[in-house]
Amino acid sequence: LVVNLPIRMDDGGLVNFAGYRVQHVLTMGPTKGGLRFSPTVSLGECAALAMWMTWKCALLGLPYGGAKGGVRCDPRALSAAELERITRRYTTEMIPVIGPEKDIPAPDMGTGDREMAWIYDTYSQAIGHSAPAVVTGKPPEIGGTVGRRTATGLGVVHVLEEVLRHRGRSVEGLRVAIQGFGNVGEAAAFRLHALGARVVAVGDADGGLSAPGGLDVPAVACWIADHGSFAGFPGGDGLGAAEVLEVPAEIVIPAATARQITSANAACLDCEIVVEAANGPTTPAADAILADRGVTVVPDILANAGGVTVSYFEWVQSRQRLGWSLAEVENRLRGQLRAAFAAVLAASERLDVDLRTAALAVAIDRVAGAATSRGVFP
Ligand code: NAD
Repeated sequence: LVVNLPIRMDDGGLVNFAGYRVQHVLTMGPTKGGLRFSPTVSLGECAALAMWMTWKCALLGLPYGGAKGGVRCDPRALSAAELERITRRYTTEMIPVIGPEKDIPAPDMGTGDREMAWIYDTYSQAIGHSAPAVVTGKPPEIGGTVGRRTATGLGVVHVLEEVLRHRGRSVEGLRVAIQGFGNVGEAAAFRLHALGARVVAVGDADGGLSAPGGLDVPAVACWIADHGSFAGFPGGDGLGAAEVLEVPAEIVIPAATARQITSANAACLDCEIVVEAANGPTTPAADAILADRGVTVVPDILANAGGVTVSYFEWVQSRQRLGWSLAEVENRLRGQLRAAFAAVLAASERLDVDLRTAALAVAIDRVAGAATSRGVFP
């Protein structure tokens, strides 16, 4: 669905924003996927991301097809009131296609729990009763689940632990470089540091830090909170944003944005395993270079699936009006990711293919199997 959103701006002017929602596969149940506010959002980008969500949900065994939405706007250039009008108008336009049993949005780039609360409220006003299961990633006081904020980062670490366990190793003592210190990168860094890994480099869009003996991750997070950037942190050396990926380490975790490992830098990565916390961080050309060099790539649809898995847990809790404990959320998350990794590993051995091809094979096979079982109507 492509919509036009005429929005009254704070200065009294009127601006039209383009909005999109793409539902990719309706065979598996309702569709699920984030809502992105970014100046580069397009119908094509939403379609690609919706397809990605289909495979991710199928791989994790979640009862959803994939979807993705977006509004082409720069959220940093808009006031909170303007963003609220955009979100509510977008939701109103989407009412025919979203709903707890139809299509369930969630946060993505440029949106968060505030926007999800506005969607929940606007949808509920329209249908006449509260419908918390229409979105996930809500604030806790209106039905958001415990454990959602850190779910993707923790999931990245669970999957990495499974990969290492299969090789008879553990994360303790291993060096890890992490690009991106947002929701995902920071949570992964904290957990890896707590597990005894040496986080030898972290970075964001403005630059990074390295320390061969390992950074004090909680101290780095405090520094960022106080100073707004890594610059001047006393326990590490400053680094350019792009250099973080090339710091020597057993594990490299791109957790920033798409297309960061390309044919230009793939040969410079000095690591054994790349864990794709971001969506699409490795280009196909870079994938081939890494494979030639014997670097294992743990694909995004497996590595970062912790987020949608805990979103699914939130949807279940919202529908049942029942809150789970943090321990229950984290135990179920670990179990679901372990099962997905086992399926991918088995497919990779059976088909003699890399983990990305194996993950896609498992996911596509499940969707195809469901379509075959449901048959053709009439
Ligand atoms: P975020 O906005 O919280 O953080 C992004 C981080 O990446 C920031 O530190 C930013 O400065 C940094 N960054 C951006 N561009 C960069 C660049 N060119 N070089 C270096 N650093 C750069 O976002 P997030 O929620 O942590 O998401 C990160 C990635 O994980 C995205 O690709 C997202 O699609 C993916 N992902 C997120 C979730 C989730 O639950 N948040 C789930 C699945 C996938």
